[in-house]
Amino acid sequence: MSEHAGTSGERMFKRLALIGVGLIGSSISHAARRAGLVGEIVGSSSTAETRDKAEALGLVSKAYADPADAVRGADIVILCTPVGAYGEIAKAIGPHLEKDAIVSDVGSVKAAAVRDIAPHIPGGVHFIAGHPVAGTEQSGPEAGFAELFDGRWCILTPEADADRMALAKLETFWQRLGSQVEIMTPEHHDLVLAITSHIPHLIAYNIVNTAAHLGRVTDSEVIKFSAGGFRDFTRIAASDPVMWRDVFLNNKEAVLEMLGRFSEDLVSLQRAIRFSDAATLERLFAEARAIRRGIIQAGQDTAMPDFGRRPEGTKPSES
Ligand code: NAP
Repeated sequence: MSEHAGTSGERMFKRLALIGVGLIGSSISHAARRAGLVGEIVGSSSTAETRDKAEALGLVSKAYADPADAVRGADIVILCTPVGAYGEIAKAIGPHLEKDAIVSDVGSVKAAAVRDIAPHIPGGVHFIAGHPVAGTEQSGPEAGFAELFDGRWCILTPEADADRMALAKLETFWQRLGSQVEIMTPEHHDLVLAITSHIPHLIAYNIVNTAAHLGRVTDSEVIKFSAGGFRDFTRIAASDPVMWRDVFLNNKEAVLEMLGRFSEDLVSLQRAIRFSDAATLERLFAEARAIRRGIIQAGQDTAMPDFGRRPEGTKPSES
């Protein structure tokens, strides 16, 4: 856990505008309040239902239908919508951004985020894209919690000419939300996340649908015997369909490259099974087990048995 987690301290910004107040937007609100980082938090969301909920839950003091209204007077603006909405939102807010404001985002793909947002950012406003590698399969304003980012990585992908002071400030902001911060290029981010997040989600969506379409195994058998491993995939496959549609539409190249590698490795496993190659199967499974141990040692998960169930009162955390 970050040394900053749960601590309150000096206020960094007077007005935070969250464009999109779902799982990630609401978690930023909770964590920013916990750390005393901002004076006021306002928001914007496309539906009246989410705006009403965000206000009722106290996530924002005011939720606007028009994102341009939310960014007026804000010294930090964070886009927390699905990535496919970025271009339209950036175009709408661009002319209304305050001089010296920091504009960032939380999208799961970064090259497309920079492509769609950067052209609309006026001179004197600092745009630095970001991605907190933390989340759950839940969505909406009620899904957020202050601890979501604790001990997790937040990747910032500044352009080469990004303002150093603004970058340092955004880095501190995420550290005080509980995260550890890493800096890389948008393209490298997209390649790394393709294998660590995007492909695993694709596999989960695919295996759940394959099971649903089986003729010789009934739906009730799939559900009844799901504890054999399937249940873990269903949790990932319960993630928001719009968010994930936009991830795959906006990280095509890296996902297709990693999918090619994945398919080759899958064929190796297929051959090992066909030819009863016990040594290869055992070696590959042992290598994979070592990766899992590395993740636990790095503090990115616990060794607690899970199988999709967690004790009451604890929150799942997955990127
Ligand atoms: P979410 O819970 O579904 O929330 C999305 C929010 O965006 C909702 O408030 C939604 O409003 C709003 N929205 C959608 N289109 C909009 C538009 N055109 N204008 C204004 N608001 C709009 O999603 P999330 O999980 O927080 O994901 C948000 C972003 O975080 C995505 O870019 C995703 O890639 C990234 N991310 C997600 C995770 C994760 O695990 N979920 C982790 C890291 C990063 P309405 O309800 O009013 O439509």
